[in-house]
Amino acid sequence: MNFISTRNTAPAATLSQAIAAGLAPDGGLYVPDVLPAPRELVAGDDIASTAATLLAPFFAGDALAGELAAICREAFDFPAPLRPLGTPDDHVLELFHGPTAAFKDFGARFLAASMARVRRNERAPLTILVATSGDTGAAVAAAFHRQPGLRVVVLYPDGRVSPRQAHQLGCFGDNIVALRVAGSFDDCQALVKRALNDAELQAQAPLSSANSISLGRLLPQMSYYAHAALRHRAATGRTLNLVVPTGNLGNALAAILARALGVPLGRIALATNANRVLPDFFAGGAYTPAASVATLANAMDVGAPSNFERLRWLYSGDDVALRAAFTASEVDDATIREVIARRYRDHGEVHCPHTATAVKVLEDLRAQGGEGDWAVAATAHPAKFESVVEPLIGRAVEVPPALADLLSRPAHADPIPADYDALRERVLS
Ligand SMILES: *Cc1c(COP(=O)(O)O)cnc(C)c1O
Repeated sequence: MNFISTRNTAPAATLSQAIAAGLAPDGGLYVPDVLPAPRELVAGDDIASTAATLLAPFFAGDALAGELAAICREAFDFPAPLRPLGTPDDHVLELFHGPTAAFKDFGARFLAASMARVRRNERAPLTILVATSGDTGAAVAAAFHRQPGLRVVVLYPDGRVSPRQAHQLGCFGDNIVALRVAGSFDDCQALVKRALNDAELQAQAPLSSANSISLGRLLPQMSYYAHAALRHRAATGRTLNLVVPTGNLGNALAAILARALGVPLGRIALATNANRVLPDFFAGGAYTPAASVATLANAMDVGAPSNFERLRWLYSGDDVALRAAFTASEVDDATIREVIARRYRDHGEVHCPHTATAVKVLEDLRAQGGEGDWAVAATAHPAKFESVVEPLIGRAVEVPPALADLLSRPAHADPIPADYDALRERVLS
């Protein structure tokens, strides 16, 4: 299979090329040149084998095709259980059992396993640059730690990520460099963009990125939805519907693609925080990217969802059909707090602020008479957002073992000014 750009003015690429490049050279996003026919999928397999079957057509003809099964086994070595919630026919798909306790571990680990193989015969190490406001950097650092031929430089805004997030970013060492930047997340992102466009720097130190537009993160995220939906169908004969908390639309788009490939998923509803560009669009407005606003669900603080271009491609640019296919609802900070406190009090459930937006959207669907079996995607463990969650539930949140292990290691990040030459120097050192 070949991959083309959503903007149609870049040459077609193989999967390996698309994964190595991240963004297409015309600034568009890579998409398959044709969507594969629906797959024969078997319930009961583990996530790794479901993934290998589902992803096979995307890897067909690529140099990585023979390694797909090994990549899947390496990436998907932790579970994503579907558990009942305290309300009938409601479930939670727990995506936070990986090393950094957020769903991004799945995509980051698949990308790292793929990139290590793509780069196997290259002499120069590849440097992955990541600007992060928290979750992405940690997942990428954990996934690329000690991968041969690969180095990660993570930039985060000093003092603007939680202490636990900062610790996670700085605790790896070896081939992972954490830089705390005297500036904002936007400053970090601008520095990374400038480096990626610096041909002179690239000639000395090949660079790539690992953000959520990468096909190597997007495609594997279909796997946990397929695994859950197939098992649910086999056990109950019923179709699973989903609510997905959404920022850049990476996780939600994976569910949408999985359904397009024949995975038995019903409705897919999107939940956002106060960044309401998607709710406004799905309510019939124009697509109007905006500056992001800070919320309690900070990993979803996105004013211009980067994968929206792929969603439009999937619907051939037909916004009327796209609006008819999904709903998107905004959940503000006061409601996030209310949901976390009330679900704990009434049902003993502890949700992270991102998951809480999806729980609220499901509650509203039920209140409007919505039927069927639904699951909310739980995108992070609440222990990652303890400063929000603990005051609301009045007790400490137990830290999962993988996260506790990271937090028990010493951590170190080098300070740098929000200055391009400072970054350049670090990349070359
Ligand atoms: C990244 C993230 C999201 C948003 O995912 P997208 O793929 O950007 O839509 C939601 N919740 C958590 C905890 C995250 O880390």
